[in-house]
Amino acid sequence: AIFLIISFAILTVTGLHNFLHWRRSQLSEIQRGIEKKEFYAYYQPIVDSATGQWKGAELLVRWYHPKSQVIAPDQFLPTAERSGLINEITLQLIERAALEKEELSKYCGHNFYISINVTASMIANPAFVGAIANLIQRYPVLKQGVVMEFTERENFSNTDIDLLQSGMRTLRGLGIRWALDDFGTGYAGLSTLRALSFDILKIDRTFVASSLTDSVTQSILGNIAEMGHKLRCNLVAEGVETQEQAEQVRSLGIQSCQGYYFAKPMPFETFKAGWEDSACK
Ligand code: C2E
Ligand code: CA
Ligand code: CA
Ligand code: CA
Repeated sequence: AIFLIISFAILTVTGLHNFLHWRRSQLSEIQRGIEKKEFYAYYQPIVDSATGQWKGAELLVRWYHPKSQVIAPDQFLPTAERSGLINEITLQLIERAALEKEELSKYCGHNFYISINVTASMIANPAFVGAIANLIQRYPVLKQGVVMEFTERENFSNTDIDLLQSGMRTLRGLGIRWALDDFGTGYAGLSTLRALSFDILKIDRTFVASSLTDSVTQSILGNIAEMGHKLRCNLVAEGVETQEQAEQVRSLGIQSCQGYYFAKPMPFETFKAGWEDSACK
């Protein structure tokens, strides 16, 4: 038994050591990736529910690591967020997005939007808001057609709501519109919703996915849509994967859709080609 306990202890200690080492080395890897500007956004179209026409795109971070396939966000975001390096990554994405948006606007004007993921705590940080404001001053193309979205999954009660509100107000003054991501899943009560006044609510895909098979979810989806209409928000249904779902979403008056049924997230160059086909008409 003693032997077992000792070997268990050794295993645990080595496991912990490896884990800590991995965390530390992932941190410095991310730092290196930032210096080498290895973070890019995939673009996923957001479409008009009635016509399927592309109205905009959500920017989803990808890591073009030189020694790996393209790395998805769940592999590095936890470390990036815990360490605060997500701020640097986000600023890099916004700067690149400014250049890409400029390029898109050559084809068919400025009548579309890009939607950038941030977190509530980033926007409650005046220094970070200042850095975004600087980018907007430097790249006038960002003064129009930019949405920032943050998730309702993050517990707002850890965030200073007054600071969050003032960060949102500052950036709104510079033309940014605000979307609440994963709406329906989280913590934002009605009072928070009213205090923060979003322009767009993105309905989480769990409600879209099960609404056809499950009548309870179906009425929840209906209620969420109704609440969005009452709050005078534009609604986006996330994770639309089938034609039936798209039809249901449209019948509930949800203006926009995003999901694999219409298009998957794709590299900018691919998006640009599709953009010329879909949006310029
Ligand atoms: P999210 O903001 O909810 O983004 C939507 C996720 O759902 C994306 O995963 C997208 O690829 C996926 N998706 C889109 N359509 C469908 C569909 O029809 N069916 C299904 N099953 N999934 C669909 P992705 O790109 O892996 O991103 C995961 C999460 O990582 C995002 O969830 C977001 O919370 C976070 N994230 C992505 N980019 C950034 C970023 O630049 N900054 C921050 N802070 N977070 C980011
Ligand atoms: Ca999002
Ligand atoms: Ca979402
Ligand atoms: Ca989600």
